[in-house]
Amino acid sequence: MLVDSFGRVATDLRVSLTDRCNLRCAYCMPPEGLDWLPKPELLTGEEIVRLVTIGVERLGIREVRFTGGEPLLRRELVEIVAAAAALRPRPQVSLTTNGIGLARLAEPLVRAGLDRVNVSLDTLDRDVFVRLAHRDRLRDVLDGLAAATAAGLTPVKVNAVLMRGVNEHEAAPLLRYCLDQGYELRFIEQMPLDAQHGWRRDDMITADEILGLLKESFDLTEDDPRERGSAPAELFLVDGGPQRVGVIGSVTRPFCGACDRVRITADGQVRNCLFATEESDLRAALRSGASDEELAQRWVAAVRGKKAGHGIDDPAFLQPSRPMSAIGG
Ligand code: SAM
Repeated sequence: MLVDSFGRVATDLRVSLTDRCNLRCAYCMPPEGLDWLPKPELLTGEEIVRLVTIGVERLGIREVRFTGGEPLLRRELVEIVAAAAALRPRPQVSLTTNGIGLARLAEPLVRAGLDRVNVSLDTLDRDVFVRLAHRDRLRDVLDGLAAATAAGLTPVKVNAVLMRGVNEHEAAPLLRYCLDQGYELRFIEQMPLDAQHGWRRDDMITADEILGLLKESFDLTEDDPRERGSAPAELFLVDGGPQRVGVIGSVTRPFCGACDRVRITADGQVRNCLFATEESDLRAALRSGASDEELAQRWVAAVRGKKAGHGIDDPAFLQPSRPMSAIGG
């Protein structure tokens, strides 16, 4: 099992399939993009499947979430999902995506065994989308969302990040849209994980502010907190329910004590926290002929050293050198 020194058990594996993305969301990367990882440094599809297999069969991983960068850009995605879904015990297989291309891929992914999807949508206004993501792709995202529902990936979850002066006025309209379409919306506080290192605490729209903005238009009541478990979102019933909205207060309401996540980057590094400053290199071990048992032992050691919390409030906090797109959100 992947247990850290505080007794937390990692059962939820996030695997980044690529650091590349076809959007340039301002809270993540600069408009000109980044220097992408060279292809030889990326894990191959086979290497990814081998690590996921070790995680599921030997280390107690129960959920595998593919992310990035943009995972739909990874050519072998359908095959990788199928291989993960064929493992026993069968893990939950999910995807976090910006939705561009999902209109074409939702059905093949479901046939391959995909169980759930989170689609990122920060605005319903085409001009705001272009300003925020530096690409004119809102229509593709909305089509991807509709295709996810049609393919049976319900309840489709939507992730939104609000930025001050950019899209904060859209909190309530986004929720109204998601309720109408049957999507479950979660707002995520903006975290210091942008490549530009431009995050400022004062600019962040906090969980309290998000709730305040929503309460101007909706009646929110806290859902049973016992239902939350290790989930990062605090859930609220909207207008008496049953539909809900989530708020992920990663910065102001950290949930590190209940964290059950571990990550593998697209270049095969284990990260025991989004904000970790150290990584453990499984790719080098894998390529130098390590056995499954040796890889598992390295992974166990990497998780054991997980810190108690992300430390954003610590005066000595250092933003990780890898941005979110290269870690896998
Ligand atoms: N490209 C995919 C997507 O758009 O969902 C997957 C990767 S993306 C890094 C995963 C999630 O992280 C998205 O919902 C995105 O909004 C969120 N994200 C990226 N940078 C963030 C930041 N600085 N703070 C909070 N959330 C962030």
